[in-house]
Amino acid sequence: MKPSLLLSGLAAALLFSGCQVVPETGRKQLMLVSPAEEARTGLAAFSDIKKSEKISANPAYRAQVERVGKRIADSVMRTPGHQIANAQWEFVVFESEQINAFALPGGKVGVYTGLLKLVASDDELAIVVGHEIAHVTSRHGAERTSQNIAVAGLGLVLAVGMEQQQVTPAKRNQILLAYGLGTTVGVLLPFSRTHESEADRIGLQFAAGAGYDPRAAAAFWRKMSAANKGPKPPPFLSTHPADTDRIAALEALAPQYLSLYQSSRLRYE
Ligand SMILES: [Zn+2]
Repeated sequence: MKPSLLLSGLAAALLFSGCQVVPETGRKQLMLVSPAEEARTGLAAFSDIKKSEKISANPAYRAQVERVGKRIADSVMRTPGHQIANAQWEFVVFESEQINAFALPGGKVGVYTGLLKLVASDDELAIVVGHEIAHVTSRHGAERTSQNIAVAGLGLVLAVGMEQQQVTPAKRNQILLAYGLGTTVGVLLPFSRTHESEADRIGLQFAAGAGYDPRAAAAFWRKMSAANKGPKPPPFLSTHPADTDRIAALEALAPQYLSLYQSSRLRYE
């Protein structure tokens, strides 16, 4: 088989076989990474982070993150289709002024003390933790990895194809540059916005299912938006822009999850 045919076959296999559907939103996603691989990567990354970053000894912060985290984890496990494969839940507070939080495959969650200073209630913390865990249950990291593999694979097909067609090297580079820009702006960036709104919606469901008020989301993001007025936004905000569209979307979604919130709250009274 000619190498170009082999590569085209590979690319087609990537695009047509590696698909799955995100529960709740029903969006189809390219998926070339297995849940087991993903969990292994997450667990290894978390143990590295725990070695390199300072773990907080603040008893109030630790208790708050454990309390909210456990309820969200229970809510996730009760939500059909959203279970985390091989979950080994762990909630750790890191000592840092960073306004940040993250969740990794395998059920590992980290929250920075800088974020906890800004959070006014368990409801607000639940919104952030729910959002981060929703990125994991929706497998957004693995989807991004899959897209990068596919984009690189197709770029290779294009490069080999042009070589065989005897396109001049200068023209070839021009085309590859255009391809790279096109895939970044046309495919990879819009996906990160899709991931954010998907995690907002599913995170709201997780928080409400854990008995936390979904209306806290819009209030929290408004506060974050005000914190964003400085010359250099904190890293969490540069990946989570608190624009007015986002706040309006959260405000519109909250009523859908009010009855879930009210019935779930009874579990914890
Ligand atoms: Zn996010």
